[in-house]
Amino acid sequence: MRVKRTFEIFGISGLLLLTSFNISVPQAHKIKRVVIDAGHGGHDPGCSGSKTKEKDVALAIALKLGGYIEKNFPDVKVTYTRKTDVFVELFKRAQIANDLKADLFISIHCNASPSKNPYGTETYVMGLYKSQANLSVAQKENASILMEDSYAKNYDGFDPNSTEAYIIFSLYQNAYMDQSLSFATKVQKQMKEKIGLYDRGVKQAGFLVLWKTAMPSILMETGFLSNLKDEEFLSSTKGQEYIATGLYRAFKEYKNEVEGNTGDTIDKDVPQIKDTTAYELMNNDSINSVKDSVKEINPKKEILFKVQFATSSSKKSLTSPDFKGLKDVQEYFQNGLYKYVSGNEKTFESSLLLLNKIHDLGFKDAFVVAFLNGERISPQEAVKLIKKN
Ligand SMILES: [Zn+2]
Repeated sequence: MRVKRTFEIFGISGLLLLTSFNISVPQAHKIKRVVIDAGHGGHDPGCSGSKTKEKDVALAIALKLGGYIEKNFPDVKVTYTRKTDVFVELFKRAQIANDLKADLFISIHCNASPSKNPYGTETYVMGLYKSQANLSVAQKENASILMEDSYAKNYDGFDPNSTEAYIIFSLYQNAYMDQSLSFATKVQKQMKEKIGLYDRGVKQAGFLVLWKTAMPSILMETGFLSNLKDEEFLSSTKGQEYIATGLYRAFKEYKNEVEGNTGDTIDKDVPQIKDTTAYELMNNDSINSVKDSVKEINPKKEILFKVQFATSSSKKSLTSPDFKGLKDVQEYFQNGLYKYVSGNEKTFESSLLLLNKIHDLGFKDAFVVAFLNGERISPQEAVKLIKKN
C-alpha cells in the first residue's frame, strides 16, 4: 500500500515535471510562411508616374522577391495576395495572411508627391502617425477602399480621408511591434547600404492593410513615381530586381535572427549587387538621355559644385551666427528641409578645397553637392557630365 502510494505520487510529480518541462522549453520560432502583398491591382492602379503605374511595379517586385525566397528557402511557403493584375480588397489581404497563420507580411507600394522633388524609400509599421507627411501616405494608400464595393461595412464606416478617423489607431496594440520594427529597419538598411537608395527611414502610420494582421508586418514605399529618377529606377527590370534583392536579404537576416541561425548561406539565383552606388550608376544613362534631349532645346548647361554644411527644418537667415561668418551662404529647399551651402565651384577638385576650409570652421559633417541648372544632382553624375562635354 505504502509502496503503491509513493509510486502514485512519483507518477503525478513526474507528470507535472514533464508538463512544466514541456511548457518551459522555448519553442524555436521558425519562419515558415511569408505573405507577399503587391499593393493595388485591377481597377485600382495606385499612384502613377509619367509612364509607370504603382500596381505594376509592386507586382513585379513582389514576384521577384517571392521567387528568391522560394529558391533559397524551400522550407518557407510563399503566398501572394495577388499574382496577376487583379483587385483585392485591403481587409482580404490581411485575412489571407491570418488564415494561413503567416509569420511575416510584406506589403509593397510606391509613393507619389505633388512635387517632383521628393525621392527615396521608406518602410512603415502599423501605428499612429507621428507627422502630417506619414498621415498623408496612409490616407493615400487607404483610399483604395473607396474602390471596394462595400467598404463602409467592411471597415466599420472608416473614412480614409478624415484625419479624425485615424485616432482609432492610437488604441492599436501590437504584440508584433518589435519584430515589425526589426524587419523594417533591416529593409531600410539594405536599401541604403547595399543599393544606395535615399533612406527616408522607418515610420509609423495607420494602414488598413496592416491593421488586422496577426503577425509582424511592414508596408514598404519603394520610391516616388513622381520623381524622374526614382521612376526610371522602379520601372526598370534592374531596379525592381535590386529592390527585391534588398527585401530578400533583409528577410534572410530577419529569419536568421528569429531562428537563432548563425553563419551565412550562399544565395542561389539572386542578383549580386557589387557596390552601393547601384542606383546612381544604373540611372545615369537613362537620366542623361533625358537631360540630353532637354539640352538640345536648351543648350545652356551649368554644373556647379557647392559644399553643404547645414540643414534645418526652419528657415534661417543667411547671415545667422550659426554659420560662423561664412561668406556666400546660399539656401535651397528639398524634401521639407532648408539646406545651406557655400561656393560656386566649376570643378569637383576645387569644391574639395572649399570642403576642407569649411571642415576647419567646425562643420565636420559638411559634404560636396552638385547642381545642374540649379537642380541637385549627385557629384558623381556631375563629374561624368563634365567629362562627357
Ligand atoms: Zn500604394
